[in-house]
Amino acid sequence: MTHAVLDFASFSSSAPTAEEIQLIESSVAQFGAPLLLLDCDIIRQQYRALRDALPNVTLHFALKPLPHYAVVRTLLDEGASFDLASSGEVKLVAAQRVPADKTIHTHPIKRDQDICDALAYGCNVFVVDNLNELEKFVAYKEEAELLVRLSFRNSEAFADLSKKFGCSPELAIQIITRAKELGIRIKGLSFHVGSQTMNPQKYVDAINVCNDLMLKVVSLGLPALSTLDIGGGFPVSYSNKVIPIGEFCKPINEALSELPETVSVLAEPGRFIVAQAVTSVASVMGQAERDGKIWYYLDDGIYGSFSGLMFDEATYPLTTIKQDVQRYPSVLAGPTCDSIDVISEHIMLPKLDNGDLVIGRMMGAYTSATATDFNFIQRAQCIAFNEEAGQKVQLG
Ligand SMILES: *Cc1c(COP(=O)(O)O)cnc(C)c1O
Repeated sequence: MTHAVLDFASFSSSAPTAEEIQLIESSVAQFGAPLLLLDCDIIRQQYRALRDALPNVTLHFALKPLPHYAVVRTLLDEGASFDLASSGEVKLVAAQRVPADKTIHTHPIKRDQDICDALAYGCNVFVVDNLNELEKFVAYKEEAELLVRLSFRNSEAFADLSKKFGCSPELAIQIITRAKELGIRIKGLSFHVGSQTMNPQKYVDAINVCNDLMLKVVSLGLPALSTLDIGGGFPVSYSNKVIPIGEFCKPINEALSELPETVSVLAEPGRFIVAQAVTSVASVMGQAERDGKIWYYLDDGIYGSFSGLMFDEATYPLTTIKQDVQRYPSVLAGPTCDSIDVISEHIMLPKLDNGDLVIGRMMGAYTSATATDFNFIQRAQCIAFNEEAGQKVQLG
């Protein structure tokens, strides 16, 4: 909609700039609070940074952390591909006219209807990690091609996605062998090392195991695999700084260079593309003094945009428009009647008035996507800025 400069790239809870304040206040005046301000320029910047860091890898944006039409459209313009996991996500990309050959469906466990919906759209690459799921594709063996997902446990990640999904290399061989008997095409292997993985060695180890497995497949006389999907998990800086993405990807590229030249590589980044692109704006609804602290009740909370505090492990840098030097021990609570709905129990804040605005940074990934309507309280409205590349209008 609007074209404006947003300078939300800062990693700290540093004070908002005058330009930012003007944009936030005019947005609240127009749309009310709470809001999520989505800066499509940051989507572009993050996509380009990862593309440059992984030059030989096709990037399929995983919709899950922020399934928003403006993100899809921005990334489509950038030449990105997409990673889908549900019929709802299929609908969203179809509505934005994403060509189906730019999509893969990576949910390891699907209903027949999910497979049919994806195939009807034209997406024909799917993921399996067990023999039961493989059998579902007997009916679709003409159209569908499969990736076999391997499991690599990672206790350090925000979400260890190899506990719930993925198989051992031994089971992968069984699946590939059975697929050959059933006449189902196996395109390659995939894995997800876990979301917000700080250590690139996790990818390197997984790539090396997959490389060995691909050799084993050939030595067993099974059809050679053509694809390796290295998943998502690329980290962003919340409170702690992480390694810059170019540096992070260096060992990954080295490991990938050991693969046979015939293998094409994809990745499924989610968080890395969107986390930094959204700034939340909530307003103070009321306040009370309890046990020597001031409790501020905001119109957004744990059941809303801050759901990542429960479902994810992110710590979002928070700040306020009011920047008085005098700060007091404060609590930031959400709007529902539930006692767990507290965003921060210990935060030093200036004295706020009702209606004052609290700003959350790095609010793009796994925030609004996991928000609920608990207490019938409306979710924050998401407003997209800078949807057209190169049409930035300077404010002020
Ligand atoms: C969640 C998910 C992603 C995205 O992971 P990030 O950690 O956000 O990059 C990619 N692929 C699959 C299969 C997922 O479930």
